[in-house]
This record gives sequence, C-alpha cells and structure tokens, in this order.
Amino acid sequence: MRIAKSARTASSSSTSAELRAFLKSPEMRALELQICEMGRRMWARAYVDGNAGNIAIRVGNGLALCTPTLVSKGFMKPEDLCLVDLDGNQLAGQKKRTSEILMHLQIMKRQPRALATVHCHPPHATAFAVTGIEPPTCIMPEIELFIGKVPVAPYRTPGTMELARLVSDLAGRHNTILMANHGVVSWSHISVEDAYFKIEIIDAYCHTLVVASQLGAPLKTLSQTQLRDLLKIKQSLGIPDPRIGPKDGLLN
Ligand SMILES: [Zn+2]
Repeated sequence: MRIAKSARTASSSSTSAELRAFLKSPEMRALELQICEMGRRMWARAYVDGNAGNIAIRVGNGLALCTPTLVSKGFMKPEDLCLVDLDGNQLAGQKKRTSEILMHLQIMKRQPRALATVHCHPPHATAFAVTGIEPPTCIMPEIELFIGKVPVAPYRTPGTMELARLVSDLAGRHNTILMANHGVVSWSHISVEDAYFKIEIIDAYCHTLVVASQLGAPLKTLSQTQLRDLLKIKQSLGIPDPRIGPKDGLLN
C-alpha cells in the first residue's frame, strides 16, 4: 500500500492532539499545498464549476487528506483541508469533508497502489460520460502511454456508496474512469499531480476527438505494431497497463 512520502506518522487511533500535530507537520503542509495547487489548476482550466470537484491523498496509517465540501477548488487554503479515515469519518479539519469522499476512499481500498485521486467535470471528457461513449483507443500516443482504456461507470447518485462501489470495481484495471452523466475520476501511484495530469490528458484527448469528428474524414488509427511499441515504452516507464501486466486482477 502506498502512502505519501514521510506522511506516515498518524493513524485513525491517534488522539486528536496527535492528529492536529500531524496535520501541522512540514510533510503534511507540503501535501496540503499540492492539493490546493491542483485545485487551482482544475479551476483555471474550467474542469470544475461552482464548488464541484474533489481531491484526496492517502496519508498516515489508514488516513486520507481531502478537499472540503462547498468550497471552490480554485481558492482553497491549506487550513480548509480535512483528514478522514478510510471509512470517511472526519478526524480533523475545520471544514466538512467532501460529500464524494467515499468514492476516493473506495478506490484506495480496492486499488492498493492508489496514492492520490482526483475527480472533476472537465467538459470534453464529461461529454463522453453523458453520452455513455467510451473514448476509442489506438488514436494518439499520450492516451495509450499514460492512461489506456477508459471505461464508463454506470450512473448513481453522487456521494453514495453504490456509486463508490461501481467506480472502484473498475479502478483495479483502469487509472482513469468516466462516470456516466457526471464526470471523470483518476488515481495515481506516484503523486496527486500525476493523477491530475491524467485528467488533462483525457480531456484534451476527448476534445481532439470531438473536433476531429467535425472534419468529415475518418480517424486514422495506430497499427498493432505501433501500439506494441508504445506499450514497450509504457512498460519501461513503469506505468501499469492490463495489456502489459496480468490479464486479470489489479494493475501492478
Ligand atoms: Zn462530481
């Protein structure tokens, strides 16, 4: 199970004084600033509207640092962030944790490699999510290298355990998942910035597909040999993909 570097010294059984001290540590402060920065980028690129979107990072022993509810992700301060256990119980933080935290935590439970998760509503990827169309593969190198196949999880009411279960069912084999009639969620085994990069990549890809579809010519696809070459690079970069790794079970 991956935990953000150096942020390992608290657990759900720590006292509230210990948790407060943990939150004030330089390591946690650095992670809080990273979350605020990713929120600012999501807002600047119009991936979130109103108070939408949420971010989480696995920290401590069975804990996660996450964004608050009812706060614009573009203007968060480190002290706005919340500490929760992996069941979603809030342990520290002045603001209330995001209502969508169960999905992030369920992904972390089902995919032990998931260190950080990012969820938002970027318009081009969300256009595929609201039509239920899975973006095609073998069109552009970036999507094959850093993401791979992107499935669509069925719609359920946001914030429910049912939605969390349906999305996390897919997180074992996919690092980026469209949520029908809702948005997109990604996880990373590296950092919260890497999880955010996947959002940029999927939204830019969906945007390109939409524009290309207006040109009146069929899309050209990569050959199997070209795909194999990309997957070799992916393997050398240590990026998991079910097409390289085990055919069943978790990405590794
Ligand atoms: Zn949402």
